[in-house]
Amino acid sequence: MIVGVMTLHSFAEGIGVGVSFGGGEQFGAFISLAIAVHNIPEGLAISLVLVPRGVKVWKAGLWSIFSSLPQPLVAVPAFLFVQAFQPFLPVGLGLAAGAMIWMLTSELIPDALEDAKKEHVATIVTVAIAGMIAFQALVG
Ligand SMILES: [Zn+2]
Repeated sequence: MIVGVMTLHSFAEGIGVGVSFGGGEQFGAFISLAIAVHNIPEGLAISLVLVPRGVKVWKAGLWSIFSSLPQPLVAVPAFLFVQAFQPFLPVGLGLAAGAMIWMLTSELIPDALEDAKKEHVATIVTVAIAGMIAFQALVG
């Protein structure tokens, strides 16, 4: 189940990579690097679920890699689509950003507040935002 969910959500990330290159090579490289960095804990999460259930470490590693294969496969057609519809790029990027903000505020933060103290959730959200800004300043 986790491999399936992670593989499916990689399609959306591949679209994000392809669309980001429509905003220029530097922006595309920045988004690609950000997605690549976030693939590390995602792959680790998959392996940490599979290995205790008896899957060999090398097979769990391959499943972790497999779950991200849709990203490069979908990025190319997404980039070509954006090239064909360049005037709509700002709208697409705005929708993507809005979707991520919506997911954060309607799903992730409420779920976190069910299991953790609000001070801890606020601290983690603040550190995560600061980390994103630092990553953008260093790489972008
Ligand atoms: Zn992801």
